[in-house]
Amino acid sequence: MEIQSPLGMQDILPEDVQLWKKVESAMHRICALYRYSEIRTPLFEFTSLFTRSVGEVTDIVEKEMYTFTSNTDSTPISLRPEFTAGIVRAYLQHSMHKQKAFQKFYAFGPLFRRERPQKGRYRQFHQFDIEALGSYSPYLDAETILLASDFLNELGLKEYKISINSIGCPACRAEYREVLKKALAPRISELCQNCQARYERNVFRIMDCKSEKCRSIASKLPTIQGYLCDNCKNHFDKVVSILKVTELEDRVNPFYAGQTTQVSEAKSVPNPLLVRGFDYYTKTTFEFTYPSALGSQDAILGGGRYDNLIEDLGGPKSGAVGFAAGIERIILALKDTKSQMSIKKLPKNIPIFVASVTEQEQERNQEQDAVLRDAVFKIATQLRRDGRPADMDFEARSLKAQMKVANKLNYKYVIKIGSDELARYGMTVKNMNTGKEEFYSDKYINEYLNGLDVRDATVSDKVRAGEFLDLHNKAIFLHKEGKEKEAAGLLDDAAKISEELNIEDIFPLSSFYGFKGTVDRNRGDFKNAEVDLLKSVKKDKDYALGWFVLCTVQMKLGKEDEAIRSFMKAYEITGDAWSDWALRDGNKKYFSQEFLERLKSEIETPKGA
Ligand code: AMP
Repeated sequence: MEIQSPLGMQDILPEDVQLWKKVESAMHRICALYRYSEIRTPLFEFTSLFTRSVGEVTDIVEKEMYTFTSNTDSTPISLRPEFTAGIVRAYLQHSMHKQKAFQKFYAFGPLFRRERPQKGRYRQFHQFDIEALGSYSPYLDAETILLASDFLNELGLKEYKISINSIGCPACRAEYREVLKKALAPRISELCQNCQARYERNVFRIMDCKSEKCRSIASKLPTIQGYLCDNCKNHFDKVVSILKVTELEDRVNPFYAGQTTQVSEAKSVPNPLLVRGFDYYTKTTFEFTYPSALGSQDAILGGGRYDNLIEDLGGPKSGAVGFAAGIERIILALKDTKSQMSIKKLPKNIPIFVASVTEQEQERNQEQDAVLRDAVFKIATQLRRDGRPADMDFEARSLKAQMKVANKLNYKYVIKIGSDELARYGMTVKNMNTGKEEFYSDKYINEYLNGLDVRDATVSDKVRAGEFLDLHNKAIFLHKEGKEKEAAGLLDDAAKISEELNIEDIFPLSSFYGFKGTVDRNRGDFKNAEVDLLKSVKKDKDYALGWFVLCTVQMKLGKEDEAIRSFMKAYEITGDAWSDWALRDGNKKYFSQEFLERLKSEIETPKGA
């Protein structure tokens, strides 16, 4: 007997397990932020589930499944080749759709496909998979793509490319199918054997054939975009526009009529029509590739919308979106790029539901609705990127209905965004227990939310936070007595705690580092003072005093140009160059007459002169 694992079945050795765990922990964190719940389904499903969902005429079902029939039970079962079918099956089997129409799931685990093994392609491989079931909203397509990109960003994998496409619905595809068949008819004999069979059975599959010849033929075929129905076209346009709201557009590369040049310029994906290897997709499909680190198997993640699958498997008519990311390929990319994983702290504790202040159906103004919903989506995204679990309603319901959803999902706080909030650059926070509502400007909202977490924090975190405040207060006292050296020692200890904890939750670090920098300066440690003060103004670029002190430190370090720049920042913020600060007795000593002259001319020279 040969001591070897079966072809395409890989061991994950201890040195790699650490990397796997990091990927898994990023997955759990991101899913918590986007409010997905973990689900675990069996490795085996009835074979018919995959035939009905993935599709009879697909490579996976035709050739790649590991299928078994036992003597006692003649119904064939297969090792799962993908997650979606099993998750939808579980959702229906346990009547989860009756509890809540809309639900988000994620899963992690091994899958099996009898493919020809090569680098990045195995017969047992692993995926991180997400499925959001029960919504037709284009915001959900966009959210899914953002979740994928936030996940890769968190792992430090920055060089991915995203392609998105719409493959329409069965109605648009019927027409397109005929167009393809007509275009291919004269060239059938040039296609590979497989594709010749596909011509009759599933002509779309020819689009993702790997053979050179078929690819070259496929690249000249008409694309589906010219055949999308109004509904599919509008849906796709909306998805792309929502992604723009969240500044992802530079990576998104829609295969869209009139924009095909972008595709070749970006050299992101060789196939101008992303059809993906499953029959259940409708409308949006997307793929993330990582060409810089992977060879021919450079797809790391793929997904899309599937609006008919739930119904096809016996459930209600409902839309859904999902994706699957290949973990082996992510690990290969991580090893290649040696990226610095930025695994962040655990999510902040208190989840927030973001609602748009929309009127009841009759009184709706569609245009205003769209603006509000974009704003809500953007805020939910920002909250998540800031480490806070957040969600929204995807169904464009009235405020009352949204509040009901939030209540049912046990949210303790809801952020409300209406035209008034947009006009005032802020948001209203409603405490769902007390019913109290308060307005916060965008600038202070995070501080407020973080404060909520502190009240909710663990006892040991509270003790540590208390120590931080204590050290800080003692340092202020010493500083006032002129004992800068002792103050600096305490502030160094406080800084250590602030790195450990999310101190910003209770105390603005801009002013902490501003103070620490001042103390450093006063005791003549200009180098460290500059480091601290730069930290301070980076945390809050409108912190005028921070810029002023930084200016004096830079003067001491002989960095006159930088000092002028810092001074000007403070001046821009306060509009006051002299009276309140620069000529105060304690500060005068930092400025030579010559420097003051330079500042004066800087201030008196009109901008752009
Ligand atoms: P799919 O389920 O085919 O849409 O694939 C989703 C992702 O899973 C791909 O982008 C790959 O990263 C990964 N994947 C698919 N098949 C394999 C395989 N045989 N071996 C390793 N990774 C795979």
